[in-house]
Amino acid sequence: MKIQSTALGLLKAPLRIPFKTALRTVTELEEITVQLVDNDGFVGWGSVVPTPAITGDTQECIRADLTAILALLRRAQIEDVWNWKSILPEGQTFSRSAQCAIDVALHDIAARKANQPLWKWLGGYHWIVMNTNMTISVDTPAVMAQRALEAARAGFKSLKVKVGLNAELDKSRVLAIRNAIGEKISLRLDANQGWTEAEASALIPWFAEMCGPIDFIEQPVRADALAAMSRLTRHSPIPIVADESAMTLEQAKKVLQEGAAHALSIKLIKAGGVAEARAILDLAFAEKIPCLMSCMFEVGAGLQAAAHLASMHPAVHWVDLDSAEFLSQLPYQGGVKFTGPEIRCSDGPGLDVNLSGSLSRIAVL
Ligand SMILES: [Mg+2]
Repeated sequence: MKIQSTALGLLKAPLRIPFKTALRTVTELEEITVQLVDNDGFVGWGSVVPTPAITGDTQECIRADLTAILALLRRAQIEDVWNWKSILPEGQTFSRSAQCAIDVALHDIAARKANQPLWKWLGGYHWIVMNTNMTISVDTPAVMAQRALEAARAGFKSLKVKVGLNAELDKSRVLAIRNAIGEKISLRLDANQGWTEAEASALIPWFAEMCGPIDFIEQPVRADALAAMSRLTRHSPIPIVADESAMTLEQAKKVLQEGAAHALSIKLIKAGGVAEARAILDLAFAEKIPCLMSCMFEVGAGLQAAAHLASMHPAVHWVDLDSAEFLSQLPYQGGVKFTGPEIRCSDGPGLDVNLSGSLSRIAVL
């Protein structure tokens, strides 16, 4: 494959409801998009939402890295999409966020050239229709309970509840949600590193006893506190998921070696693209470790690719790809169908999405 032309754009959309976690608040979605066109005229789309609070990669560094990688791509011959990173000069580091956007676009082109949807190009389906949870952002217990009730009425069977800002208040938040929605809907608690080990040790058994079915507790303590994660994992009555502790394949291996989680959260941007995320899923499958397919706060090509990977990989047990639900309308046409809790990948070639509307905003970059 020879890349003939490249372009960057900006995908923007206001949120219907603000997205709040222990780490940040988002009111407008803003993604950088990448368009690649190869010498046969096939177009591939990638995207990345700068999330420095989690990845450390700022918009400026991602833009600079993308510009540099795109220049390299235009001079290279890509023989093997899985191994395109061999064109990156040794000794020079590029943010995983930027690499992810390029990686998704190259996978999109490869699948389009094969005239297959990405899920099929990756090896076939595991789920035709997936069910995502809906995320309930951090807020007062009453507001969170109200949002949970709305999500339950919209048909969501599991809710991902953001906690971790205040341990005592977290009890009231989760209890208020449980009281509002009853016992039929499972909860997934994400502390985003917000608790101390002592807080987590006290809270987790309390949640298990008082708050009905809980699928897992995600990243209860700091990402680098693997010893604490291991102790919590040994004693927790609820499965522990490593998210910020397991960004890359190397980190995922370390988490599993140290018994620092029962399960892993997978995000393309954390891993650096489809190939690396798949490598983590393959490792998890071999080790019988269930995975959550998740995303940053994004709706573009990156979210689409995550849905395709989730739909084909048997290590994916839970799906957390709900960003589209926070928008009144997606800022593009085609691609994955998000209908409340249901996610259905397209049967069209590649990601089957067209983000060319975002290129009109290229001047903003
Ligand atoms: Mg998380």
